[in-house]
Amino acid sequence: MSDNTFPQRRNSVGVRVDDIKIGGGAPVVVQSMTNTDTENEVATAVQVAQLARAGSELVRITVNTAAAAQAVPGIRSRLDDMGLDVPLIGDFHFNGHKLVTDFPDCAKALAKYRINPGNVGHGRKRDEQFSILIETACKYNKPVRIGVNWGSLDPELLARVMDENARSSDPKDAAHVMREALITSALESAARAEEIGLGRDRIILSCKVSGVRDLISVYRDLAAQCDYALHLGLTEAGMGSKGIVASTAALSVLLLEGIGDTIRISLTPEPGGDRSREVIVAQEILQTTGLRAFVPLVAACPGCGRTTSTYFQELAESIQGYVRSQMLVWREEYDGVENMTLAVMGCVVNGPGESKHANIGISLPGSGERPVAPVYVDGQKSVTLKGDNIAGEFRQIVDEYVQT
Ligand code: SF4
Repeated sequence: MSDNTFPQRRNSVGVRVDDIKIGGGAPVVVQSMTNTDTENEVATAVQVAQLARAGSELVRITVNTAAAAQAVPGIRSRLDDMGLDVPLIGDFHFNGHKLVTDFPDCAKALAKYRINPGNVGHGRKRDEQFSILIETACKYNKPVRIGVNWGSLDPELLARVMDENARSSDPKDAAHVMREALITSALESAARAEEIGLGRDRIILSCKVSGVRDLISVYRDLAAQCDYALHLGLTEAGMGSKGIVASTAALSVLLLEGIGDTIRISLTPEPGGDRSREVIVAQEILQTTGLRAFVPLVAACPGCGRTTSTYFQELAESIQGYVRSQMLVWREEYDGVENMTLAVMGCVVNGPGESKHANIGISLPGSGERPVAPVYVDGQKSVTLKGDNIAGEFRQIVDEYVQT
């Protein structure tokens, strides 16, 4: 179907982070963040590797102490030893200016810095400390994300914007004032960074909030007021389905309006949960909105009273897991395999039709149907599977399709 009902991507200045380009027409980049203690070099390198292998194209680590800054070059070399060139982003707050000065090897090993202008000090100190971070970025030729967060907005700036609003002949509501303060903080900090000498092609902006409607409004306004590359993310999105739904709702609207050059999905990890889930959700948002393709997607019906077992759900889940695990090899060897579509359907009501729309589809027997599973390849019925090894034979058909 045509997608010309959607706006073009917003024009933004491209920013290079090592070999990854953000903005300037490049595909939207997926990034994530570790939750390990960065001082633990091994645990952090292992988690960065896990995120990178899941598909995170950049990984951010917090750099909050001297020991964390000291660990950064070691984390970088461990990743290099694993053959992973994923760029590392250093997340700096109150003491970032000191850490990049005291630990130049850390400043050099990072591919990009994230600076929160609300968390670099107050008054004159804030200006000095912000300047040191930007001067360091200039010295080592590093890009910077100026990341404003409504939970840590500069109180002096907020007071100034509120005061201006109160004196205005047309005062705005509190939500509007907050959005304006976030955007003002990002744009004034970016202007200051440029004055210090950081090029526009080294600046990325973000203005994160935790409400879906607020996030959409703030980014629409920010996108209209500048051409810096934009990092999107709903902060404190939450756990489980709530976090996924809220992030998807907010980011999908913006991405389909052409806004956003890199995304991070901030999910609260469930106990024992896999951190790479946020990477998979980010990829799936980009893939289901038609912006990028990473892994063949499996369409599956929800099941109903016509299905007498959970077999088709198990097959759908196992085939999605299988293609995801195979992608590391397939991506290298077979061009365009990520665009392949698969369908696993629970009976013949919608099964054959949906299966014909996919590159490969299977329609499993529903209640009362003959125990056979027709398979469709590129819209044509290819074979009928039966017996105990339907899953294995279906995987083999997928393998053969990829290899031809
Ligand atoms: Fe139910 Fe069949 Fe539709 Fe699946 S395809 S939801 S099993 S009727």
